[in-house]
Amino acid sequence: MINSNPYNTAKKQLDDIVDLIANDYQDKKKFSNAVKLLKVPQKIHKKNLTIKLDNGKSKSFKAYRMQHNNARGPFKGGVRFHEKVNEDEVKALAMWMTTKCAVVDIPFGGGKGGVCVDPSKLSLSENEKLSKAYAKWLESFIGAWVDVPAPDVNTDSQTMAWFLESYEEALGHQEPAAFTGKPIVLGGSLGRNEATGQGGLFVLDEYVRNYKMKAQETKIAVMGFGNVGYWFSQLAYAAGYKIVCVSDSSGAIFDKKGLNPEKMMQGKKALGSLQEVGKVNSKTLLSNEELIGLDVDVLVPAALENVINEHTARSVRAKVVLELANGPTTPEADEILSTNKIDILPDVLSNAGGVTVSYFEWVQNLYGYKWTKEYVNEQLKSILSKSFNEIHSIKLDKKITYRKAAYISGIKRIIDAMILRGRV
Ligand code: NAD
Repeated sequence: MINSNPYNTAKKQLDDIVDLIANDYQDKKKFSNAVKLLKVPQKIHKKNLTIKLDNGKSKSFKAYRMQHNNARGPFKGGVRFHEKVNEDEVKALAMWMTTKCAVVDIPFGGGKGGVCVDPSKLSLSENEKLSKAYAKWLESFIGAWVDVPAPDVNTDSQTMAWFLESYEEALGHQEPAAFTGKPIVLGGSLGRNEATGQGGLFVLDEYVRNYKMKAQETKIAVMGFGNVGYWFSQLAYAAGYKIVCVSDSSGAIFDKKGLNPEKMMQGKKALGSLQEVGKVNSKTLLSNEELIGLDVDVLVPAALENVINEHTARSVRAKVVLELANGPTTPEADEILSTNKIDILPDVLSNAGGVTVSYFEWVQNLYGYKWTKEYVNEQLKSILSKSFNEIHSIKLDKKITYRKAAYISGIKRIIDAMILRGRV
């Protein structure tokens, strides 16, 4: 995987639309100050967290929380546990959160957290200690109206349950709206687990409808088979799309007749990896790089950053890339795909389903309500369809990419809020 700096990618994506919106602002000084402010987080928190391991020895882990911008509402964003987590990655992810919340027009700003750790190398009780140490450290600078963390790569509803317990213990009272992505019994929302994949499917459905494609004839390859990749695959399969390839970090499995994602997940749970599932079920085994070059209609990166880069972009044969991971396409690859007339449905729209249902969870917690899954999905569909169609119109009107159109829509909302508050 290429080591393009995601923070530079995030800043470049912002720079790419500055000239396209500058004329909408009479006060050029305020506009350029707002753009400058959007390139740095408002607050940077970092600390070495030390926990006692099961063997009695102590170990420290670098931890971050970036609070990027709160002009439109409390900071909002997940917490990633991964051995490659670093300051610039968390800054980029926080910046993307600010843009994403504005693109789908939900009342949040953006933030992100991370701990530099491979959680698979820790026992369950060590994971619990690390999660609780993280939330205890965050106690004085998060909260329902301040900053609302959620799950990301390698964290889940169990992590949120540990965060909640540790945070509320430090706080001295209950505040379930301080975290989203919680287990249902602790105030989580129905539909949150599958929300990012479901949201991606709603976005794809709108694209397919606009371009008069047919779900049954649409072949899809999905890179990453975790929370997002699995749910997207499963829901798309149930909606009639043809999932021909799925992958995890072990590699990809391919079947031109189509795969049943639920069966693949059952196999992965039993055998440990998709490649093992592929071997047992006589599927074609491919590398993740080969997956990128498959002759499919939709390529879905749903794992980590930078996988579509200057080395892999020319091999892409899909008609459209649905970005469910954050930052999977580098700026160089963006150019190549655009030249090759391949659409990219950008992360700030395509994976916004997760944060949108997080917003629903926050609302339910603040009011003490419990919504049905049907109601959650109805609201999610309405927000994402509206956002897609707004962006689609900007794209057609200005003859630009979907990414630029999404940034125009989101960044203008953020800059307007900053100007109205008198921050610039
Ligand atoms: P996850 O940890 O549940 O799953 C990650 C998956 O990617 C796993 O199947 C893993 O095996 C696979 N993977 C790891 N390295 C890989 C590689 N080099 N090649 C192919 N596959 C690889 O994480 P997730 O929550 O599904 O998040 C995936 C992406 O979606 C991340 O970019 C995350 O920021 C983004 N995202 C997640 C949410 C959410 O609600 N969970 C919301 C928005 C965006």
